[in-house]
Amino acid sequence: MIIGIDLGTTNSLVAVWKDGKAQLVPNSLGDMLTPSCVSLDEDGSVLVGKAARERLQTHPERTASVFKRYMGSDKKVRLETREFRAEELSAFVLKSLKADAEAFLGETVTEAVITVPAYFSDAQRKATRTAGLLAGLTVERLLNEPSAAALAYGMHQMGSESRFLVFDLGGGTFDVSILELFEGVMEVRASAGDNYLGGEDITNAIVDLFFQRNNLNSSLRNNPMFVQRLGASAEAAKRSLSAGQAASVQIHLDGKDIQMDLDEEELDKLCAPLLKRMREPVERALRDTNIRSNELNSIVLAGGATRMPVIKRLVTLMFGRFPTSDINPDEVVALGAAVQAGLKMKDAALDEVVMTDVSPYSLGVEISMRLADGNNADGHFSPVIERNTAVPVSRVKRYFPMDMRQTKVDLRVYQGESRLVKDNILLGRLEVPLPANETENKGVDVRFTYDVNGLLEVRASLEGSKESHTLVIQGNPGMLSDAEIAQRFNELGKIKMHPRDTLEMRTLLARADRIYQQVRGDLRNWLGHQIAEFEGVLESQNPRLINPAKSKFSDMLNSVERDSHLHSDFDPQPN
Ligand code: AMP
Repeated sequence: MIIGIDLGTTNSLVAVWKDGKAQLVPNSLGDMLTPSCVSLDEDGSVLVGKAARERLQTHPERTASVFKRYMGSDKKVRLETREFRAEELSAFVLKSLKADAEAFLGETVTEAVITVPAYFSDAQRKATRTAGLLAGLTVERLLNEPSAAALAYGMHQMGSESRFLVFDLGGGTFDVSILELFEGVMEVRASAGDNYLGGEDITNAIVDLFFQRNNLNSSLRNNPMFVQRLGASAEAAKRSLSAGQAASVQIHLDGKDIQMDLDEEELDKLCAPLLKRMREPVERALRDTNIRSNELNSIVLAGGATRMPVIKRLVTLMFGRFPTSDINPDEVVALGAAVQAGLKMKDAALDEVVMTDVSPYSLGVEISMRLADGNNADGHFSPVIERNTAVPVSRVKRYFPMDMRQTKVDLRVYQGESRLVKDNILLGRLEVPLPANETENKGVDVRFTYDVNGLLEVRASLEGSKESHTLVIQGNPGMLSDAEIAQRFNELGKIKMHPRDTLEMRTLLARADRIYQQVRGDLRNWLGHQIAEFEGVLESQNPRLINPAKSKFSDMLNSVERDSHLHSDFDPQPN
């Protein structure tokens, strides 16, 4: 069985193609969304999901979140005494989802389709594949998130002919795709996006406003506990405003309660610069497909941040019509990944369905230009594969050395749309030796092969020669070698995951700890007593005592949280 995984910045989901349809898999708490948070528990085991998210506030030095932003870089996150790369933290999330799928299916799972933002670079895609390997999963396919959303949406539209645009605003990334559906063939025509734009930026803008309005000392930004609490309160305020209520951001500091009221108008103002950045990818995708916005049959929303009224208004304004949100925007990408898994398994129910995708960015090499005055202008970009070309694709282009006496060509491969390579992303370098004593300037044929996973191979061969050189990405700090992957796989294997069957209790206690830290006075003393009592019941290991105590304890936490106006439980509201 191949499983479909949406490995998100804030939340991750797993789904399977079963009994002729895509189905979401619940985690051990019964939730479909597993927060992409990892925490090292005091006993050395790893907590993933809600328990870890609770500990962001109580144990920030042992807990990590939003690490998807560091995929493909060599940034390390310290949890207590150990440092982890983003691939390793993602691997813990994947291990947890894999265990949930195994419990759901009653069989071992070793293969997965994992979704990535369309704009993920080669290094970020490879890092995602590595995360899969580290979790014991072979990644059968890396699928672009908006294409996954489209696949899930398209399944509902099969048999009709339509053109639609997927507007996907997640926690950390923004993606736009335009698709055409015709007789079961779903064709992605164009993708565009911004890797550094998402709902988290809106939360950060609220935090910045809080600092500004209350004249807070910027050194507080280095206090992880304060930053987490303020972030949680800002996030909660943002979400309440999606439901239409006025909201406030509150925090206790140096014996004082500091509060900032926030209304919809103010939130809209804060979002304005971010909204501006959303226009450009939409316009580019429309331009690349030569489709006018009034020729689109529907606009599909995906990603948690599209729940914000200001985003819905922007979409409505941009396209002159209301967007569709038939499928829960949090779940649509995972469901599409499961459809892709079904396609991979050649499920009979998907016999008629074909999906084609594109390369969302241009890929090319650095060149020098000879100017009319005889001087050279270096650092120019020459695309070999233009953005939004259907994949898989293989293109070859011939380049000539600037000087016949050159002994080698240093080929630098870039991704991006800018005229100058300094504004694009360097993917790797390839050295091609040139034969000495040539009498004519021989060209170098550069072949780019880009596969359906969005992974690139570059080959260079001398004109007329059979010998070719294949790109080995050098000096890219974002990449682990096969040997390093094997070594880290063994190391990670030594760290135990918290057992699935006791995760619910562990989560409840993590939540109680967080609430304990947030309240004060008599309530706090009383709560401390309640926690100790509950721990005592847990130690009895008697299910007849534990089960009723668990419900009572959970109800008690709900009411303390409600009465004290604490916010931290970010379960999405129903549509
Ligand atoms: P995703 O990566 O698709 O899970 O999206 C997560 C992002 O959606 C985060 O930035 C959340 O703050 C945001 N989000 C989720 N639900 C809401 C909501 N009801 N209102 C505003 N933002 C939300």
